[in-house]
Amino acid sequence: MRYRFYNSKILSMEDRNIIDGEIWVNGSEIEYVGKSKEGSGFDEEIDCEGNLLMPTLKNAHTHSAMTFSRSLADNLPLDVWLNTKIFPMEAKLKDEHVYWFSKLAILEYLKNGISLACDMYFFRDASNRASDESGFRFCYISGANDYGGVDDLEEQYHIHNEYSDLVSMHLGCHAEYTTSKDNLMKIAALADKLKAPVFMHNSETRKEVEGCIERYGKTPTQILDELGMFNYGGGGYHCVHFDDKDYEIFKKRDMLAVFNPCSNLKLSSGIADIKRFIDEGISVSVGTDGAGSNNSLNIFRDLYLACVLPNVRGEGEANIDPFVLLKGLTSVVPKHMGLDKICYLKEGQKADIMMVDMTDPSMQPINNIIENIVFSGSPDIVKMTMINGKIVYKDGEYLTLDKKEIYERCNSLMQDLR
Ligand SMILES: [Zn+2]
Repeated sequence: MRYRFYNSKILSMEDRNIIDGEIWVNGSEIEYVGKSKEGSGFDEEIDCEGNLLMPTLKNAHTHSAMTFSRSLADNLPLDVWLNTKIFPMEAKLKDEHVYWFSKLAILEYLKNGISLACDMYFFRDASNRASDESGFRFCYISGANDYGGVDDLEEQYHIHNEYSDLVSMHLGCHAEYTTSKDNLMKIAALADKLKAPVFMHNSETRKEVEGCIERYGKTPTQILDELGMFNYGGGGYHCVHFDDKDYEIFKKRDMLAVFNPCSNLKLSSGIADIKRFIDEGISVSVGTDGAGSNNSLNIFRDLYLACVLPNVRGEGEANIDPFVLLKGLTSVVPKHMGLDKICYLKEGQKADIMMVDMTDPSMQPINNIIENIVFSGSPDIVKMTMINGKIVYKDGEYLTLDKKEIYERCNSLMQDLR
């Protein structure tokens, strides 16, 4: 398909500039971005009526199929929640659970303007099928730990990186506290062999960091770096309880720090010093984490909280530039995932495009569009999500997924799981 989107505002995310103009999409790629001009041979011409086109959002850390655990066990600390509620139920999951609950997550991602989920979960063949059928991108992060995923990690890495245009995979492990030193060393050796970055949950709770110091005399970031885990970069999820040396390592290794403020607040894990990461020049972004701990996959909530939470100290200065976090969500995540073709709206990039409804009351008046999106945005403003040149969500309708069927299957699978 060849599309022409005209009469639009365009925020490429390369910088803060917003121009009036049009975008042409040919197949999976952006063919033209710029001022209005003559053209022909389009399959569809879409009058954007002054609405804004910008890159899609990317969910930097999530566990998609954990939609099964939404509102199932709330108000517990992380360790109790994981060990007594989540792990026993996950032991019952099969391929079909991951398939349907991933599709449920994708419904929510698409209405949030998300085209890519950096997803840590298992039964990836099932989520590959969900990706195929919905036209949605997954970048899997291995959640290898002492319960599995270490010995076949290299095989999995190749399978999923060769699967399709929409699927990719990175090395990872669940966390230091679920992975023995032996297994951590195996993952580090594989990272070395593949010259690949490694991603994981890192310093989410104070207890996790204290346990690691007891085991190794060092924080998770420091021991993992010492084991060679970050020789080719990588990143951490949560990054709440960092010390000076941890920041140094993230900076030196050019790592991605992903913040999950909704999950951290709900599980009482603490508040990351996001301002410090930004001041140190470390790449930052935001993820929802899974629906079990958030419980929503509404990434606008996490974006807003990440931007304002550092102000909770009440020092009278609001210091986080909303553009930095919006860029983290649109462009910095894919760059760190090796997906540098889905970062910006410009010629030659893949067409992952979100249309923002400027007629939504939350976007009016048009004083500052970027601030409107970060501080006032919600899924209500997402008018269209295009992924890889295909419109998959428009005006509240899903063009590749059957919402009713997904709800029926998920609720029926829950009856067995419970
Ligand atoms: Zn997580």
